[in-house]
Amino acid sequence: MVRHISDKIGVMYLGKLVEVGNSDDVYFEPKHPYTRALLEVVPGIEPENILDLDKDIIDGNIPSPLNIPSGCRFHTRCPYATERCKNEAPELKEYENGHKVACFCCEM
Ligand code: SF4
Repeated sequence: MVRHISDKIGVMYLGKLVEVGNSDDVYFEPKHPYTRALLEVVPGIEPENILDLDKDIIDGNIPSPLNIPSGCRFHTRCPYATERCKNEAPELKEYENGHKVACFCCEM
C-alpha cells in the first residue's frame, strides 16, 4: 500500500530514520535488517520479492524510548549485530540513487 501511494519511503526505528529512498528501491531492494524483516511479514507480498531476502526474523520487543540502547538502536534485536554496533551509532549514508541506509553491514 505504502509503495503504491508514495514516491519515497522512510523507515524509522525507535525514532531514528534507518532507511530512506525511492519507494521501489526500498521495497524491492531493502538494505537495512529492520526494513527487510518488516517486508517479510507483509501479507500478500509477491513471492519474487521474498526470494531476494535473507531470513531477517527479529526477536523480542522494541526497547523503551525512555531507555534507548547504546550504539545502533536496533542492535538488541538485530541478527547481524557486532561489538561495533553496541558502541557506535551508524550514520545514514547513501548507498546508491538517493537510497540511504544507517547500518554498518551496508557500508561499501
Ligand atoms: S548497524 Fe549493526 S545492529 Fe545496526 S542494523 Fe546494522 S548490523 Fe544491525
